[in-house]
Amino acid sequence: MKKLLDLKETGKMLLDAKQIALAIHMSPDGDAIGSALALARVLRAYGKEVTIFVDDIIKGFKFLPDIKTIKIDADLDKITEPLHFDLLCILDCSTINRIGRIKEKVLADKYLNIDHHISNEGFVDYTYLDGDAAATAEIICQLAKAMQWTVDKQTANYLFTGLYTDSGSFAYSCTRPETMCAGAELLQAGAEPHKIDEAIDVMDKDTLWLLTKALNTMTFDFDGRLAYMWVDREIYAAKQKSADTDSFVNYPRRIEGVEVAVFFKEVDENITRLSMRSKKIDISKIALLFNGGGHERAAGCTIHKPLKEAIADFLSVIKDRIDN
Ligand code: 5GP
Ligand code: MN
Repeated sequence: MKKLLDLKETGKMLLDAKQIALAIHMSPDGDAIGSALALARVLRAYGKEVTIFVDDIIKGFKFLPDIKTIKIDADLDKITEPLHFDLLCILDCSTINRIGRIKEKVLADKYLNIDHHISNEGFVDYTYLDGDAAATAEIICQLAKAMQWTVDKQTANYLFTGLYTDSGSFAYSCTRPETMCAGAELLQAGAEPHKIDEAIDVMDKDTLWLLTKALNTMTFDFDGRLAYMWVDREIYAAKQKSADTDSFVNYPRRIEGVEVAVFFKEVDENITRLSMRSKKIDISKIALLFNGGGHERAAGCTIHKPLKEAIADFLSVIKDRIDN
């Protein structure tokens, strides 16, 4: 039986468990990582044994203490028999697919999902969902408040990283008064926005190389209302391990007159990842057509086809919607 929890019930479920696994989505971003590290830190202060899992490598965020404690894809490779926990709490995910192999390798008595995606499928028994929250980190702030959990300086920095990245530095349309209030409270708790901003706003040379390749593919359609760019799998493979493509979609997004921006990344022979941004239409609906998800203005999905075919598929579904 599926149940939507309130904050207190969510907090209680976490505190009732002793051995807790936290899972975050592949291509982990600042919100997923920051929320998990913060929640883990709070729960460890209550004597809980907490392990964070992600079925991917982590690019960036080296400035966050404890980032190395997160179990990544290489650690999952070593798990031959499923691990067992009292609780598996899945953060910042709207569907089970987003956690990859964790669903087979990490089992638990109870499953909880804390999320802020409107496309959330309610895929486990217990869910705390706030589709209006700018970030999962915003929900964790509210959870800490409702439970009177102590947010120390380190936890505040984790949560600020999540809030700051998912809200586009408190500027995207998902930013609401509660987002700003949570940010202010994190500042009071010792968060250091200037340090976080400095650490996030850097680009390594491999990423720059890949970005220049992608920028060269910039293509416009629908009188300039759609802009998209791509990297094919040969180019991607050259810098796959090091380059961080998370911000690439912002380049087509910021071009004058563009309403829908897409970055296509051919990660393998028949796997193309789409990162989409919109200024008008609900782009999560497009993502859902390809079994992805996200928010009204930021969404993503994977099309199991080569790059060219994936682009053609996307163009065929966006056509009617961008015209209306
Ligand atoms: P991004 O383009 O930054 O990777 O993702 C934008 C938003 O869409 C994020 O909130 C992210 O969690 C969500 N998203 C991206 N890819 C997928 C996907 O394949 N499935 C689902 N359900 N959500 C996704
Ligand atoms: Mn998020």
